[in-house]
Amino acid sequence: MLPHLLSLASLLLGASATSCKTSPSDASWPTTAQWSSLNSTVSGRLLSTIPIASVCHHGPLGSYNSTACAALQAAWSSAWTHQSHPSSIMSPLFTNRTCLPSTPSTGAEGECTLGYYPAYVLNVSSVADVQAGVNFARAHDLRLVVKNTGHDFFGKSTGRDALSLWTHWLRSIEFESYSGVPAVRVGAGVSTVSVYEAAAAVGRVVVGGEQPSVGFAGGYVAGGGHSPLTSRYGMAADQVLEMTVVTADGVVRRCARDENGELFWALRGGGGGVFAVVVEVVVKTHADGMVTTMPLQFATEDTEAFWAAVRQFFALTPRLGALGVYSYNNIMPGSFSSTPVLAPNMSAAGLYTELAPLYATLREHNITYSANATEYPRFLDAWRNSFPTEVAGIMSGSVSRLVPTAVLTNSTTLDTFMDAYRAATDELYYFAVFGISPPPGSEGEQGNAVNPAWRRAGMHILAGYLIPENSTEHQVVKQRDWANEVFQPVRDATKGAGCYQSEAALTEPDWQTAFHGTNYERLLQVKHTWDPTGLFYATKGVGSEEWEVEDGRLCQV
Ligand SMILES: Cc1cc2nc3c(=O)[nH]c(=O)nc-3n(C[C@H](O)[C@H](O)[C@H](O)COP(=O)(O)OP(=O)(O)OC[C@H]3O[C@@H](n4cnc5c(N)ncnc54)[C@H](O)[C@@H]3O)c2cc1C
Repeated sequence: MLPHLLSLASLLLGASATSCKTSPSDASWPTTAQWSSLNSTVSGRLLSTIPIASVCHHGPLGSYNSTACAALQAAWSSAWTHQSHPSSIMSPLFTNRTCLPSTPSTGAEGECTLGYYPAYVLNVSSVADVQAGVNFARAHDLRLVVKNTGHDFFGKSTGRDALSLWTHWLRSIEFESYSGVPAVRVGAGVSTVSVYEAAAAVGRVVVGGEQPSVGFAGGYVAGGGHSPLTSRYGMAADQVLEMTVVTADGVVRRCARDENGELFWALRGGGGGVFAVVVEVVVKTHADGMVTTMPLQFATEDTEAFWAAVRQFFALTPRLGALGVYSYNNIMPGSFSSTPVLAPNMSAAGLYTELAPLYATLREHNITYSANATEYPRFLDAWRNSFPTEVAGIMSGSVSRLVPTAVLTNSTTLDTFMDAYRAATDELYYFAVFGISPPPGSEGEQGNAVNPAWRRAGMHILAGYLIPENSTEHQVVKQRDWANEVFQPVRDATKGAGCYQSEAALTEPDWQTAFHGTNYERLLQVKHTWDPTGLFYATKGVGSEEWEVEDGRLCQV
């Protein structure tokens, strides 16, 4: 049932500033009849937003049910819980922390409101649904968001008063030969695990994310996308041969090297939710084959010995990357855990040999370690058995840096970097270090909009910090500033490098350059060409500096 309250509010309260996206308090907010008409156009697939944790609350949007609430509380930290809900996202900070399962079920503190959730969700089942949503949002100057899985670190897949396009059910996966290149055509709602499984069934692999729940064709590819297979085959965006999109004018377009080339360039690395709605992508597939994985662990209270071993590992990373090896490492003072080192097309013996200098350092310092490699005949099993499940639904922040190979291969710069890294690990909560280097030329002759800093990278650092749930907005801001400050020496030790936009700090200094390097001006031109009125907005996305957000409301600067 569609709520009539919002339309009533619009009539009572009248219009507000025209430079803002339409809100329910504006006279121009669509009437109930207009929402109903959209609902008919999309065969009843328009949903009024009901926050996921309404079952834990009383009040107008609440539907308290103790059993359902307990089940949600138990499942809250699973990414799948949020992915499979029309409006839920994984970072509660960006919903304005409304209607959480952890807050009281009654009273002012436990009020269940829409917060920064969208007003309506269009549960997309076809390209025509996407077109209907885009046209409706444009006609009524509504904020439009696209939600695939809700993984986004900046909450870009939600927005106050928005119409949201939920792509979850666009689940097609079709293998084909694309001008002679083995390829797969993937719908916008397909998750990593689904495409990995489908590919394995036909003896192929694709470049996808590390966690099973991450979307494949949405924000992941749009942001560049790193993968356990990136050191071997390149970034996810490098694999794309064609995209079908709906642009801001509501038109369905094919984007490829030979058609809408500039838009195609931008869609591959320029960021999610900025240029168009992607309906499907066609990506290269590669022959499946043998993969060796190795969980690698060591710990010691001997601080200098520990960091000497980590330094040795960092120094080895560029060579490993050049051999196609990837690693996912959690490195905090006194404790190193790689889950795993993943080596496509390399035997266990080969991997032991490559890591021999590390073992020598560990032995030299009397550090015990475990390093047991397993050979798998195909990628899917290696991937399934190796990665820990990550936690969703928590209040946290991130910072990222793409550490250049040049820094890791020079003893002086590596020392400076080590000092900065060590100091930062004393402060921040966790440090995930990805050993990743896309092979030279993997972006192809025409290139794409992936941050050029990725092409020089030997490692990607993703550091995180927790934000206490009861923090005030002011405290949240202070916490972000503090993390930026603590991380600054890492930036200084890697001057000229950038960061990974999809796992970066919300308050990254000069984010345009850090996320996009020299590509930014070109990306902004594409944005202005294809979305001149700013139908698509994404927090810290290309062109977002032309907008400001006041209490969740989007207004032109
Ligand atoms: C647990 C976890 C693990 C991760 N692992 C990896 C990893 O291994 N490698 C990696 O590179 N990244 C990883 N990431 C980061 C991830 O790639 C980004 O968060 C990415 O944006 C997720 O895309 P999504 O479509 O799944 O998410 P969403 O939050 O739904 O969307 C992200 C952004 O893309 C936009 N978008 C989504 N679909 C479309 C579409 N069809 N058309 C246009 N815009 C769209 C949204 O509007 C939003 O701006 C991880 C994140 C998390 C939380």
